[in-house]
Amino acid sequence: MHGVDLHTHSNISDGTLSPEQLVQAASAIGIHTLALTDHDTMDGLAAAEAEAVKSGIALISGVEISSQWSRPATKKSYGVHIVALNMQHPAPLLALLAQQKQIRAARARQICDLLIPLTGQDIYVDVTAKVDGIADRITRTHIAKTLVEKGLVSRPQQAFDKYIKEGKKAYVKFDGPGLQETIQVIHASAGFAVLAHPTRYDLSATNIRYLIELFAQSGGDAVELPPALEPLSTRQMVDRMIAAHGLKVSVGSDFHGGNMPWIKLGNIPQIKEGQAGIWESFR
Ligand code: AMP
Ligand code: MN
Ligand code: MN
Ligand code: MN
Repeated sequence: MHGVDLHTHSNISDGTLSPEQLVQAASAIGIHTLALTDHDTMDGLAAAEAEAVKSGIALISGVEISSQWSRPATKKSYGVHIVALNMQHPAPLLALLAQQKQIRAARARQICDLLIPLTGQDIYVDVTAKVDGIADRITRTHIAKTLVEKGLVSRPQQAFDKYIKEGKKAYVKFDGPGLQETIQVIHASAGFAVLAHPTRYDLSATNIRYLIELFAQSGGDAVELPPALEPLSTRQMVDRMIAAHGLKVSVGSDFHGGNMPWIKLGNIPQIKEGQAGIWESFR
């Protein structure tokens, strides 16, 4: 599957390349099948598609949905990202994304409000300027960058660690739809549901396995393979869960342009023999 990247961001969410620039960059390095998967928005797809037609690559419609799940025994709910791919009839998903955008816009204001007593500044106007005034595109990445620019922290990671990650004072949970509802809406749009980066949620191994099982039982289609730099044992655990539940695999770099310069477009892990790529199901 060299030449496939099914998880990327543009400046419609927290990437730095425009959708057109992203497609051009993908084409230049030999990617033939690219999905644009911005956070809770498909607003970049039309521009990306127009550029993909010019570049002669296949642009797969996509979006990374902020969802949540919980274990029945506990009250705690956990955030999870579900990548939706290849929607043939996007109307149901667009209706869900309209709600997601309202949540995202309101949450950005809430986070900035919580930051006021902690930093002595209201950074909301500067944050909003980063997204051309379109508040429903604001991610915590934009808030972290603004905190750096204001000299309130030295690096974006420090903004997360000090203020805006889970457990910190300016953390606001993204109260999105549950796993089952998210998958149902993706299927109602004739798309595929992919569990994004299962090893990147700060979950115990037990909870990662529980999440993958729950995702499979909820009708999910494929699991994203961990990046090659993660420990082999982590990859093997994910491979075992994929096999045990008859899931397909997806591959994506989670490219964010200059916001995460260490992530290279098209840098995806190898699939194991016997694993079925979700991209084989695209039409
Ligand atoms: P949001 O959807 O607004 O919660 O923003 C999520 C984005 O913030 C993710 O896609 C990452 O790009 C970034 N992010 C989330 N958690 C962290 C973290 N602990 N450190 C650095 N970046 C993070
Ligand atoms: Mn992101
Ligand atoms: Mn994600
Ligand atoms: Mn992502």
